[in-house]
Amino acid sequence: MTRYIFVTGGVLSSLGKGIAAASLGSLLQQRGFSLKIRKLDPYLNCDPGTMSPYQHGEVYVTEDGIEADLDLGHYERFTGIHASRSDTITSGRIYLNVIERERRGDYLGTTVQVVPHITDEVKKFILAESEDVDFVICEIGGTVGADIEILPFVEAIRQLRNDLGRDRTLYIHLTYLPYIATAGELKTKPTQRSVKDLLSHGIQPDILLCRTSEDIGDEEKRKISLFCNIAPDAVIIAPDVASIYEVPLNFHAEALDDKICKHFGLSSKDPDLHAWKGFTGKLQNPTFDVTIAVIGKYAGFLDAYKSLNEAFIHAGVVNHTQVNLKWINAEEITPHSLETLLEGTHGILVPGGFGERGIEGKILASQFAREREIPYFGICLGLQMSIIDIARHCLGLKDASSSEFGPCRHPVVGLMTEWNKDGTLEHRTKNTDMGGSMRLGAYPCTLLPGSKVASIYNGTEISERHRHRYEINTTYKNDLEQAGVVFSGMSPDGKLPEIIELAYHPWFIAVQFHPEYKSQPLNPHPLFVSFVEASLKHSRLI
Ligand code: GLN
Repeated sequence: MTRYIFVTGGVLSSLGKGIAAASLGSLLQQRGFSLKIRKLDPYLNCDPGTMSPYQHGEVYVTEDGIEADLDLGHYERFTGIHASRSDTITSGRIYLNVIERERRGDYLGTTVQVVPHITDEVKKFILAESEDVDFVICEIGGTVGADIEILPFVEAIRQLRNDLGRDRTLYIHLTYLPYIATAGELKTKPTQRSVKDLLSHGIQPDILLCRTSEDIGDEEKRKISLFCNIAPDAVIIAPDVASIYEVPLNFHAEALDDKICKHFGLSSKDPDLHAWKGFTGKLQNPTFDVTIAVIGKYAGFLDAYKSLNEAFIHAGVVNHTQVNLKWINAEEITPHSLETLLEGTHGILVPGGFGERGIEGKILASQFAREREIPYFGICLGLQMSIIDIARHCLGLKDASSSEFGPCRHPVVGLMTEWNKDGTLEHRTKNTDMGGSMRLGAYPCTLLPGSKVASIYNGTEISERHRHRYEINTTYKNDLEQAGVVFSGMSPDGKLPEIIELAYHPWFIAVQFHPEYKSQPLNPHPLFVSFVEASLKHSRLI
């Protein structure tokens, strides 16, 4: 029998609902339960792929090629369970489904309304393909009481308690207790207000998660319990933590998983938190430290590179190393500023990106790393920038570029259809609407035996996730090989270059996919682990 846990948020946004849902998932998993974690986003875009990272942070890509909210990345990192297209939906997609059905005539004779048509569609999403798991955790994006778009979601989960019964549903509400320094007190009123908001929609939360920056006393807990009509032991304190990976341990210390099991009348073993404790222990006590420059467009806006950040944390722990990322705005890199900006960094990474802004800075960074033998990791656009650098500076093709940035004489990077007319693009694009007109999701890749990447991955058959439109133009492959480029990863049909490395360089690896999506704290990505190791080695040389 599947049970449904609904996680809502109140007071303000950015309290970490995604981390809370993911941590809870991890605890239930460690107790031996199977689960899925799903996200309902209130905005009207059909997916986040068409939104600026400034507005919505990173676009996370699932194995099956869906552009999703970055919270799905947290779910995967905390549980190791692959998210899929059935785990993410937005209001836009819900409305589109209903309106398309209305146009087809499926509702002929009826007035189509938010209740029941939209709410039925929401419930269909929550309940779909869930028979085989013990739990479905549903995170409702947005803030109750603030976002108008959230209401159909709240109404749908209210109805589900009637449909399924109390013993199959549980409401968890995440709120905030602000600390007022002048009064020296944590304030509970916003939380009381937020619970009342939820109550006005017919939902009485079963468990409250209270984010706080300070320790909270029993008196405050009693007050919250009294005013919010919640058992005192169901008021769970979620203090600020140095690392998100401590959250499962804190939740367990507050007996959150126990309470959930009691609510559902389930008995289970204690969770095995050995691995989490080991990871957070090492994270808190690094032996070494290393500085890696990340040359991006959204420098300083960390949500835009969420998975990348996390992948470095995971790889740092394996290497007993604190990885300091120095975010450098690519537009600030010029031949004059280059040396100063990159001074003191032990590795250089150019991440994925779209559009022309900052590309010359990224090309310069690749050239600098290549010529100075500094470890270089190119991801997607970062690979394309290296190919342009090598074409311009080693092959003498001064006007080499990518056709993404306009027509050029030597499009060393281009749309496959522009230079390969044999129709091979067709099976590479899984989706055709504007948001998804890219090569998206997991694709296999074959590694060259004896190459650096084959030894890093310890094998020759891998699968990684993609999100891009452009590819290396293989017309230039022979010339690039002459310049020392090893095409060490290719699509299994041998047509698409997926990885290049430089034979003569200590660590210069660039990939067409996004390895960061698959890195997990308890299962770090080998390329990041190896890159941090190489950067550490380089730091000892200088
Ligand atoms: N803009 C490039 C492309 O579409 C790279 C994309 C990326 O880095 N994810 O191919």
